This record gives sequence, C-alpha cells and structure tokens, in this order.
Amino acid sequence: MTQLETIFVVALLAKMGMELLLEALNRSHVRQHADQAPDALKDVMDAETFSKSNKYTLAKSRLGSFELLYDAIIVGVVILSGWLPDLFVWWSAWLGDATWSSALFLVFLTVLLGIPNLPFEYYSQFKLEEKFGFNRSTVKLWIADKLKGAAIGFVIGFPLLWLLISLVGWLGAYWWLYGFAILFLFQLLMMVLYPMLILPLFNKLSPLEDGPLKTRLMGLADRAGFRAQTIQVIDGSKRSAHSNAYFTGFGKFRRIVLYDTLINQMNETEIEAVLAHEIGHYKKGHIPKMLLISALMTLAGFWLVDRLAFGAWSEWFFSGFGFDNSNLAIAFLLFSIVGGLFTFWLSPLFNVMSRKHEYEADAFAKDVVGSADPLSSALRNLSEKNLSNLIPHPLYSGFHYSHPTLLERERAMRG
Ligand code: ZN
Repeated sequence: MTQLETIFVVALLAKMGMELLLEALNRSHVRQHADQAPDALKDVMDAETFSKSNKYTLAKSRLGSFELLYDAIIVGVVILSGWLPDLFVWWSAWLGDATWSSALFLVFLTVLLGIPNLPFEYYSQFKLEEKFGFNRSTVKLWIADKLKGAAIGFVIGFPLLWLLISLVGWLGAYWWLYGFAILFLFQLLMMVLYPMLILPLFNKLSPLEDGPLKTRLMGLADRAGFRAQTIQVIDGSKRSAHSNAYFTGFGKFRRIVLYDTLINQMNETEIEAVLAHEIGHYKKGHIPKMLLISALMTLAGFWLVDRLAFGAWSEWFFSGFGFDNSNLAIAFLLFSIVGGLFTFWLSPLFNVMSRKHEYEADAFAKDVVGSADPLSSALRNLSEKNLSNLIPHPLYSGFHYSHPTLLERERAMRG
C-alpha cells in the first residue's frame, strides 16, 4: 500500500466510524426517551405520534448505517483495487486522450458510481417512506426521474467539465483562477435558470392562486417589504407527503417557494408565519452570505486540484493512486471521490452558521407577525406531520442538523 493509500484508508475509516457512532448515539438517545415524551414535548405531539416519530427515526438510522458501511466498501474497492487506472487506460486507448474524452470519462464514472446506491434509494422511497405514509411516488415516476437526472447531468456536466479541463491548455498556470470564476458564474446562472429550465422537468411551479390566502400573504409581504409576485407553489405532493418551504435566488430573481403539502396542512396564520420566516432569509442577506462561503470553498478546491495535478505533490498524488501520468480530469475525479472524507469534518461549522440564519429568520418573522405564537404553531405542525425527531443526540444534530430543533427555536423566540 502506498503512503497515499494508507492516508485514504485512515480517512475513510475515520469518517465511517464517526458516522456510525453518531447514528448509534442518536438511536440510543431516541430509545431512552421512547416510552415517555419529555414534558416540553407533550403539547407538540400526542403519545401515538411521538412513538411513530421515534420508530421513523430508528428505521431511517438503521438503513442509513447499513448504507454507510456499503458506501465505504464501494469507495474502498474503487480506489484500492487499481480498477480505476486500468479503466482509464482502456478508455484512452479507445477514445484517445483529448480533453473531451477525459471529460466524458468523468461524466461516465460519476453516473457509474451512482448506480450502487440505487437499491438503497429505491428501498428508502418505496419501503421505508411508504411504511410511514410519506411515499407518493410511483416506480415509473422514480425511474423517469433517474433517467432525466442522468441526461441533465450529461447535457450540463459534459460541456462544463470539458471547458474547465481545457482551460489549462489555453491559459496556463493560472487556469484554476479562471476555472473558479467560470464555475462561480455558472452557479449564479443556475440559480436563475434552474427554476425556469430544470425544475419544470420534474415539478410544476405555479403562482399562488387568487383568494383569501393570497390576499393575506400579499399583505404580509408588503409590510415586510417583499415583492409578492415571487411567491410560488410547487407540487411536492407528486412524490412525497413531506412538507417544506424555501427561499432562493437573488435580486430580481428571488423567489419563495411553498410546497402544496404545506399549504394543505396549515392554517392561514401558520402559512403567513412561514412566509415571514422565508422573507427573513431574504432581508437578512442569507443567500449572498452562503454564496460567499461557497465561493471561497470552490476557490480553495480549484487551488488544491491545481497543486495535486501540476504542483510538487503531483507525482506523489497520481502514482500513489496507481496512475502512470498526471491528468487534470483524473485529479478532479479523485478529488471529488476523496474530498468528502475531509470536508465531512467541517459540517458542524456550516451547521452553526446555517442555524444562526434560522434564528435570525425566526426573529424577523416574530417581529413582522407581532408574536412568536403563529410561527411556533407552524413549526409544531411541521414537526408533527413530518414525524421529525425532536430529541436528536446533541453530537448527531451538530453534524447533521442545519436547522435548530423545534424546542431550541421556540426557546430562542420566547427568550
Ligand atoms: Zn429557514
């Protein structure tokens, strides 16, 4: 085993071990409270719903743990078997080693590496979600979704990768700065184009219907200083009974999207509070802040790929993973497979920031609506209908929860 392969194995085992530990901690935490809801939760869920939500959490965690083990084995085999360099040699002999052929290899492998997870995705949707009453999809729709996803990945991913890999030949040493700029502009463009071109291939997005609800929400949006034409409804019920709402885009392209499931399960006062919370994300500038962080991460990623592909570590990096020559496409590929083993440890940091934003949006909603009660009631409704785990283990929520728990949010709003 090369030094690099040893580092890889240690990083793989560390991440898998930590994730399995988090799942086990969370399950035991939930089991400890399974018989009796803590007093603070008595008004949120009745005993039957509380027990069902615990069973749902446990079932998801068991499936998730099995999948973690399975994923680690697949990634381990892909990296350590020497199968990847052989496949690339064969691919280059067949299609040549032009940049387009390398870019195509990347897209092909991304699709190929997604295949082993399909049984888990199928089981999760049609067994687990079905059992708890959340599945609304059909096998036909599920297969169509996968095929469409792969086709879109190809149509967008192939030219983009081709362009990025070509930059080094055109621009030389500073290709990675231009590559970063192109990918960042592409991200901004996708925020605008995704709802127009890609989302409609999967879902129907329509403006909120005229009626008392719309009048009321428009009134609130006016008071909060938000142009209300941008409130849209998505037919999430096509695939799942889970409900949600989100804010996306920027400037003229900003929009708030409410799930039809959310509109059906909440009263007007609650929907109004959810809208106020989403407007809070806009007013507090959360999207630009997240974009800035993501841009810095992308820049660091490009610099690192450049160092690995062409810098002093190049020989150590490629031969360490069994490749004869340095190749930018392969550097991207290995970086994308192995990078997650290291960025995983940063997730608590991102969650701290995301939760800070949630608290800010909650406080904004409380101010606009004039009381904490409507949002509190909306969040309770969401937790109950989605069978959310209200008592995650603190370490588990640190790594996996981008939102504070219901009790934390209520405490912050009343404090
Ligand atoms: Zn939020």
